[in-house]
Amino acid sequence: MSLSEIQTRITKAEADANRPTGSVSLIAVSKVQPLVRIEAVLEQGHRLFGENKVQEAAGKWPDLRQRYPGTEVHLIGPLQTNKARQAMELFEAIHSLDRPKLANTLARLAQELGQCPDLFIQVNTGEEPQKAGVIPSEADAFIAEARGLDLPLTGLMCIPPVDEEPTLHFALLAKIAERNGLKGLSMGMSDDFERAIAQGATHVRVGSAIFGARDYG
Ligand SMILES: *Cc1c(COP(=O)(O)O)cnc(C)c1O
Repeated sequence: MSLSEIQTRITKAEADANRPTGSVSLIAVSKVQPLVRIEAVLEQGHRLFGENKVQEAAGKWPDLRQRYPGTEVHLIGPLQTNKARQAMELFEAIHSLDRPKLANTLARLAQELGQCPDLFIQVNTGEEPQKAGVIPSEADAFIAEARGLDLPLTGLMCIPPVDEEPTLHFALLAKIAERNGLKGLSMGMSDDFERAIAQGATHVRVGSAIFGARDYG
């Protein structure tokens, strides 16, 4: 599928949900993709990308940013505290704030650097042990804690369990965001972004549907 087809589907999903055109940002998830495919999407004018590893992003985006002004890159994968400084310098937004230790580190670095990317708190809506994120019953407290540190909280992010209907998870994330006065909802991937938009997603993270399958070989 092409970038323009995905954009068309997003526009339709926005209309179906009675939401304004352009209310959903498309994050093109470029992890593991060959440079030529990323350049092709940049050539089409797209400027918002997502990566899930700090190291991998550091290897390609500084150069691509220079060549394509206005590019924004968001970190959508887990962040270790020892890479927090590098992440703050590389990304416009971090979607994986998931624990107090990381919040404290980001707050300290924000003071030192005088800036901080937009932050999304990751919520483990399916309470899966192998997955990052705060569990729903602890989300309100963690949101309050991050606010107490003066961190620029934009919204919440989730990755629903693969074998469950994602709509229930999207709705739960939207509910937690709403009762905490958070506007951003980072949810929805290649297979379910339309369902996420129906539940209020502001940022969808779409990889393989734009770039083709990832080749981890
Ligand atoms: C890889 C990834 C995506 C994109 O997944 P696709 O199924 O290729 O659209 C979205 N979100 C996160 C957190 C990811 O790691």
